[in-house]
Amino acid sequence: MILIRDIRLPLSAGEQQAYEKALHLARIPRSRVSHLGIVKLSVDARHGQPKLVYTVAASLKEEGEEPAYAGASPSVTVRGRTDFSVENGTQPLAHRPVVCGLGPAGLFAALLLARQGYRPIVLERGPALEERVKAVEHFSATGELDENANIQFGEGGAGTFSDGKLTTRIGDELCGFVTEVFLEHGAPREIAWQQKPHVGTDLLRGVITSIRREIEALGGEVHFNTALTGFERRDGRLVGIRTTGGAFPCEALVFAVGHSARDTFGMLMDSGLVLECKPFSVGFRAEHLQSEIEKSLYHEAAGHPALPRGEYQLSQHVENCLLYTSDAADEEDRLDLVGSRIIKKKRINNRRKKTTTYICSINILRSRQKTLR
Ligand SMILES: Cc1cc2nc3c(=O)[nH]c(=O)nc-3n(C[C@H](O)[C@H](O)[C@H](O)COP(=O)(O)OP(=O)(O)OC[C@H]3O[C@@H](n4cnc5c(N)ncnc54)[C@H](O)[C@@H]3O)c2cc1C
Repeated sequence: MILIRDIRLPLSAGEQQAYEKALHLARIPRSRVSHLGIVKLSVDARHGQPKLVYTVAASLKEEGEEPAYAGASPSVTVRGRTDFSVENGTQPLAHRPVVCGLGPAGLFAALLLARQGYRPIVLERGPALEERVKAVEHFSATGELDENANIQFGEGGAGTFSDGKLTTRIGDELCGFVTEVFLEHGAPREIAWQQKPHVGTDLLRGVITSIRREIEALGGEVHFNTALTGFERRDGRLVGIRTTGGAFPCEALVFAVGHSARDTFGMLMDSGLVLECKPFSVGFRAEHLQSEIEKSLYHEAAGHPALPRGEYQLSQHVENCLLYTSDAADEEDRLDLVGSRIIKKKRINNRRKKTTTYICSINILRSRQKTLR
């Protein structure tokens, strides 16, 4: 994919003009192009009348020709495919590897193992997506919680009921691999180039089940409604696991249980393993009038129909903490969860009042807790 940055245009210009200018700058003939998309639209309002600043993505019909355009201008770069090769072990495994948890971490671990021919066994304490959706709807209607089928547990893990924002702050090239898998399984093609891609709730569910079907088609097995409850060690090595569906031998286990499986963490600690907490985030909410943000960003041009919704980001290091904002204006029912129990439900986007809400997270970078209890 070719990225063409810093395409500056007046407020009266539209996307077509951005595409034309981008192709001209990169010297790409229109006839070679298969897709064009807007990666990012920002506004330069520093001097006089604001300017729209586009970043455009272009894919060519012949992908192999793309690197040739990289030097056309300093604003033109080429983003290649992620080379994701996996090194195989040297000793054959006596038993199939087991992946515990079918959230994003478990799903991708199982997919990679399946693609390498390992035919993994996946254990998921919750049900498959269709049954899980029913359990969540039942909870919304009655308040009766199923402890293994809810907004945290079940196929797809936590976040399955979100609108599938694929934004991270890590800039890891493996993110490209995740995007490629999502595209192969039906996510909209714009996620390949948008700066803040999101899959959308309905599509997200289809993508998750489609990835699981690929795992199964490659010989993997997914055991729903089956929780890992313990494991056996001999001479310090894993030799077997216990599950709610019975015990079986195992010497390679991937733990991908997310951050809500407190009973599982307890079981691991009781078995003598040492667990270490990751740095944690706490958040608070700040709400602004949308018009105030736009006045401050766009000055007298605020309210112009060509201008995108005004956003700001703040990040600050304070001793061992990183404070940053996360724009939550599009999220509707965000849920505060403790374990698998919902303690409070709040609607944070109020379109009628035209407010924008920012969740400010304070990430404690060097906090290390020795125990979880
Ligand atoms: C409401 C909500 C909305 C979110 N929206 C977004 C978003 O838009 N974009 C984004 O990037 N992130 C979002 N997140 C965060 C994202 O969902 C998590 O970062 C991600 O799910 C973590 O993945 P994981 O695989 O590590 O764990 P999880 O997704 O928590 O998956 C762990 C899985 O393990 C299973 N499990 C646990 N214990 C056992 C056991 N003993 N045996 C068998 N199975 C077990 C659980 O049932 C679960 O399915 C959201 C989270 C929530 C709660």
